[in-house]
Amino acid sequence: MGIKTKFYKFSEYEINKEKEKISKLSKNDLSSQSYEWAKKNLLERLIIYNEIKNSNNLLPKTFFKNFKSEGEIESFLDKKLQKLKVKEYPEKKRDYQKKLLYLLIKPSGPACNMRCEYCFYLEKSSFFKQAHPRMKINILYELLFQAINQGEDSLYFGWQGGEPTLMGIEFFKRAVEFQEIFGGNKFIVNTLQTNGTLLNKKWAKFLKEKKFLVGISLDGPSHVHDKYRKTISGKGSFSKIKQSTELLLEEKVNVNILATVNSYSVNFPEEIYKFLKSLGIKYIQFIPILEREPGSDKLTNFSVSPEKYGDFLNKIFDMWYEDFKKGTPISIRFFYSILLRLIGKKSPDCELQKECGSYLVVEYNGNVYSCDFFVDKNHFLGNINKDKLIDMLNSEKQISFGKNKAKLNKKCLTCKWLEFCYGGCPKNRTNLSDPSSLNILCPAYKKFFEHSFERLKNVAENLSI
Ligand code: SF4
Ligand code: SF4
Repeated sequence: MGIKTKFYKFSEYEINKEKEKISKLSKNDLSSQSYEWAKKNLLERLIIYNEIKNSNNLLPKTFFKNFKSEGEIESFLDKKLQKLKVKEYPEKKRDYQKKLLYLLIKPSGPACNMRCEYCFYLEKSSFFKQAHPRMKINILYELLFQAINQGEDSLYFGWQGGEPTLMGIEFFKRAVEFQEIFGGNKFIVNTLQTNGTLLNKKWAKFLKEKKFLVGISLDGPSHVHDKYRKTISGKGSFSKIKQSTELLLEEKVNVNILATVNSYSVNFPEEIYKFLKSLGIKYIQFIPILEREPGSDKLTNFSVSPEKYGDFLNKIFDMWYEDFKKGTPISIRFFYSILLRLIGKKSPDCELQKECGSYLVVEYNGNVYSCDFFVDKNHFLGNINKDKLIDMLNSEKQISFGKNKAKLNKKCLTCKWLEFCYGGCPKNRTNLSDPSSLNILCPAYKKFFEHSFERLKNVAENLSI
């Protein structure tokens, strides 16, 4: 990969000013690890600083004397970058209990250009107290530098919000560039979870080229989707989001639909399934909405009733099973997770795993938290500029957060479905302050397993995942 350098248009004065800034590079700009690494060599520092500041004016004029053409300079820099790629992380790797595999990143914090009535993350604006939160490029750099150096050979970056596309396409181009510079032979997967309102052809082409898996929030046909998913001015967002989804599909982007199941949409399983199928969607994830009234365990009126959610899943399952028999299956995340368990593999859904705490959430300002649902003071693990991701993932706080999930209700301990749901997500336990209280969704899980288990077993026997 060549770095695009426009060397010639900068004056000595400008270059000296930049050099002066570099000499002031401090641990406030970069973490101690990458600071030490960066300061070793002026040229490397220039390149890194260049990357961080998103500017191209950092190379001293004298530097050009040794080269006959711009091409030679580019290839010299490429070699330098190759060297950067293979640089070892300066500290010795310890044996960590938990491996760094997945990061959920919120580059624009809770900021969003929509006002879905059931959104739990918008209220975080008061927690962060920043009017327009945006991840700075030095945080992005530090985050990717650390993640790639400390992470496993396969790494998953989930870009979420709020609405991450508020960052603009250039931010994501930058992120992919950093991943390419640091990534070496690592297998890197990027997913983008978006409301789809800002997507256009340019975005679609970029997302396709860089192999993003794109999750679009679309609840179903217009009367279902527009019930709660409103724009800031209170209008429905269905038409725009359907259009964006179609655009992504046209460009052959991998699209996964995230459809919430709320007190209204739960009544329309057939309509929702047929509608999403008619769009040509191959991957669907249903998310039950279970939000509580502020300061209480009482569920809001847009939350789904567990019994009805069980019936919803069963109806979806029946249609899905028919499609499976016809040889035209659609991937429904919850069913896929159970199928994986049935063939002895780990479910990719944290709610169905034994413990939580396997991933970290990184906020726009570099703050790191235990889980998407627990971005709060009690679950703050550190900041990317001072702390290492791998240490935060293996911190006592995160380990004990993870173990909370395994504090199960007595009913779970003797339940025949335990190895499939493991008591579900702690955020959905009936009493939030008591992890051993039963999960609100328990009746839904039971209804679903009773209804579909034999057929799921049958599918699992014929499956090669
Ligand atoms: S609390 Fe729920 S969402 Fe968070 S890690 Fe645990 S299971 Fe996953
Ligand atoms: S189905 Fe209900 S009782 Fe059984 S393990 Fe899951 S949450 Fe617990």
